[in-house]
Parts: sequence; structure tokens; C-alpha cells
Amino acid sequence: MFIFDAHLDLSMNALEWNRDLTRPIRDIRQREHGQTDKPDRGRGTVCLPELRRGNIGLVVATQIGRYAKPTHPLGGWHSPEQAWAMTQGQLAWYRAMEEAGEMVQVKDRAGLEKHLEQWQAFGAPVSEPASSLVENRARSETGAPKPIGYILSLEGADSIVTLKHLERSFAQGLRAVGPAHYGPGTYAFGTDSEGSIGARGRELLREMDRLGLILDATHLCDTSFREAMDVFKGPVWASHSNARTLTPHNRQFNDDQLKELFRRGAVIGAPLDAWMMIPNWVRGQTTPEATGLKLEKMVEHIDYICQLAGNIQHSGIGTDLDGGFGREQCPADLDTIADLQRLPNMFRARGYKESDIEAILHGNFIRFLREAWRM
Ligand SMILES: [Zn+2]
Repeated sequence: MFIFDAHLDLSMNALEWNRDLTRPIRDIRQREHGQTDKPDRGRGTVCLPELRRGNIGLVVATQIGRYAKPTHPLGGWHSPEQAWAMTQGQLAWYRAMEEAGEMVQVKDRAGLEKHLEQWQAFGAPVSEPASSLVENRARSETGAPKPIGYILSLEGADSIVTLKHLERSFAQGLRAVGPAHYGPGTYAFGTDSEGSIGARGRELLREMDRLGLILDATHLCDTSFREAMDVFKGPVWASHSNARTLTPHNRQFNDDQLKELFRRGAVIGAPLDAWMMIPNWVRGQTTPEATGLKLEKMVEHIDYICQLAGNIQHSGIGTDLDGGFGREQCPADLDTIADLQRLPNMFRARGYKESDIEAILHGNFIRFLREAWRM
């Protein structure tokens, strides 16, 4: 089944983790043998060949660069201009992948339809043996790797030095913006912080409206979420968020916020970051094996959203599987992102209809984009 992943930090991995994502996952892990600078060294789960193997043909891929004042709890670039340059470097990697035929940028309705058609996202033969299906999906007719479609998104807007920079980013293909990430930001307060979007946040949201950008509500703190919903009039999604009822933490949305998102027509991508899936996870200490965390837990989170909404229209996938963690902090029975292909059977076992499973795995986000990009 075709899968849409609404949140990956591919370029961050290429440039800050120094991963050549065109290589097989085995090679990337081997190359990191003995490195200890990041917690997930040698344990990465995402690369372009694994996306192809998992029939994950369309993703939302981020630019990410935080600006941090001296008091910022997590640190980051010391000026907005440095953050901007970081995100421009990340864009240069996506462009290089386009030139190499590894990826293709999807930024409008025509491009979306063309990509889906070329990927043969729908109507792919399901009766073939798995091995030949994998082969069909991994290679185009010419034998070249099939380009992964990506929609460019910005996680945390600190790198937008002025609104002119946002306009430039839009011209570069940027289509979604999450104003905040972790801590206090220039345009909104993010996870583990609390405060108003202020005048600059309102300006940013109005400019996003004018340009036709999607607002990514993920990471907004409660106050900034409320204000952003009031100011912003355009399409809203939450690329990688779970329910606070199941995982009590300000990073997740409470039921009122989720209902507000439903009213706005949002689709909410379910993440596979262990600490967001089960309560009381301690980074670097808790292990997937010790907690018994399995991929099935993702189905429970998605089911919760569907039950709360009373329909299946607002649920999707937003794995975040390369967001600074690897196998040490994701479900124990997941080796690579290609394991998402086990989800359809898990939903079938719960009695989900085939059309509902398709909606969750790709249909809802694609419908969302078709509506957002009507023109
Ligand atoms: Zn994130």
C-alpha cells in the first residue's frame, strides 16, 4: 500500500549527521560504527532505498534551523542569519537529490497528480508476490531509482529573518511552516515553553495566509496554538503529534485542541518517536525492549484520534523516524521505515475497512493537499 509520511528531517540527517541517504541502510549504519557524537549512531532507520522498499513515495521533508538567544534552554544558531544559511544549505541538498534523480519536489496540484501517477500510487497490483512488488516499486521502467516525492516544510520559523525571506522560501517551493520547535522562538513558543505569538507571530501567520502556506500546528505551546488558530485562516495540519490523553505531555494535543484541529479540517500525522508514544520515557535510559513498545502502539494512537473525531478523515502518518533518534527510541519491532508496510494488516486485524486504511496511510493527507492546492 502507498504510504505518505508527513514528517522526516532528511536534509538535517544528510548534513548534520553526515548520512548519504542514497546508500543502503546497512552501509549508513556501518559507516557510523564507533561514533558516539549522536545517540542514534549506527541505528538509523531512514534512507531513500528504504523509503522505496516501504512504498513510501511521498513525504513532507523539513528545513530546520533554530536561532537561540543566550538564555535558550536547548541552544542553536546564534543569529537568525546563521539559521537561514543552515536551512538554505539543507535546501541545496534537496536540490542535489533532485538533480541526481533521487527525489522530486512536489509543490502544486499538477505536480502532486503527476507524481502519484508516476509512482503508480494507486491501482498497484496487490496479488503479486511481495518480492516482485518491491522490485517494481523501487525501480522505474528505465531501471533508475524512482524519485521520492517531497513537500518542503520548515520546522520552527526562526530562520525566517524577515517576511521577505518567507516569500523567497515560498518561491523555492516551501509549502508548510511550523512556527515553533522546542522552547521560545522568534514567532511562537514551542514545546516545553509557554507564551504568546506576539506581533511578529501574527505578522508571520498573515504572510503565510497571503502566500497560501499550510500551518503546521505541531510543537506550538498551548497559548501560541490558541492564538495561531485565531489569526491564521488557511489550511492547518499537525505533521507529527499524538494525543495528550495517551501520552501526557505538553508536546501532545489535548482533546479540545484535537477537536479544534478536526474543525479546521486538519490531518494529524502519528509519530514513531518512543517518548511520544508511551508515558514516562527517559531518553537515553528507557529501551524499547524493556517497555515492550511495538509498532502496534501507533495503531492505538491513530485509533484514538479516529474515535475522538468520530471518523477516519483526520488521521495520517508522520513518523519523525529520523528526528534525532534511531532504533534505540522507536518500537522494538521496527528495523527500518519500510516496516510501515506492516500497518495495513494491523488495521485489518482491528476491523478497519480497506478504504479507511488507505485513507490513513495516504488518502487523508493527499485529499488535504488537493484542497489546499485547489488553484
Ligand atoms: Zn518535531
